[in-house]
Amino acid sequence: MTASPIIEIKNVYKFFGDLAALSDVSLDIKPGEKVVIIGPSGSGKSTLLRSINRLEEINKGTIIVDGLDVHDKENDINTIRQELGMVFQSFNLFPHKTVLENLTMAPIKLKGLDKEEAKAVAVDLLKKVGIREKANVYPSKLSGGQQQRVAIARALAMNPKIMLFDEPTSALDPEMIGEVLDVMKNLAREGMTMVVVTHEMGFAREVADRIIFMEDGRIIASEAPEEFFSCTDHPRLKQFLDQIL
Ligand code: ADP
Ligand code: MG
Repeated sequence: MTASPIIEIKNVYKFFGDLAALSDVSLDIKPGEKVVIIGPSGSGKSTLLRSINRLEEINKGTIIVDGLDVHDKENDINTIRQELGMVFQSFNLFPHKTVLENLTMAPIKLKGLDKEEAKAVAVDLLKKVGIREKANVYPSKLSGGQQQRVAIARALAMNPKIMLFDEPTSALDPEMIGEVLDVMKNLAREGMTMVVVTHEMGFAREVADRIIFMEDGRIIASEAPEEFFSCTDHPRLKQFLDQIL
């Protein structure tokens, strides 16, 4: 029994001028699957993630999310984006809103929740990411790790089916990486569909169903972790792993 994919990426190309940031990228992701994407800087990892929720337009190919063509202008992108939570390297919290307001704004505005409902959801999520006591403070009062946990909770507040993470721990001091990865591991355990760009190979080994290696806008390898780390027939992959492991 194989479930049909919740994300279907087919022969996607994305150009910036002459540069092919994505070059014939195809990838299917099943509900509940955890896919980790690695690769050198500039290989197209962020562009791929951003194309999935149309933060980036594509030039060729198709991306279907939960049955809807993301890049078909007939489809309402806001409806599609509600299925897709995204977490960036640079937290991107609203600085002039409290933690709680950061979590309740979109559900009130976009999902029509009333204030009390939205607050109840937010408080539950803050508990889940371990910072219930920070509900009424402003983001600037939080450590990087706490801010990133708020950013994850904020994405979850929209009740997405899929979570996209773009190097969520790359901007953090080393001692804060673990607390963010722990939140992500819990989410994985609960069955969330996750696409994670990261250089945290321990996380990849533990959580990923599949690890994808990108280079020059292409997917060069796509393997289960065990095969991936013993993959010696891809010289570029081997070279990359030797550098980061
Ligand atoms: P990665 O996330 O793997 O580091 P990116 O997806 O950010 O790579 O970038 C892929 C390539 O596309 C890089 O060569 C980058 O310089 C280029 N690129 C990304 N965004 C833009 C942009 N807005 N304009 C021009 N070039 C871009
Ligand atoms: Mg990037």
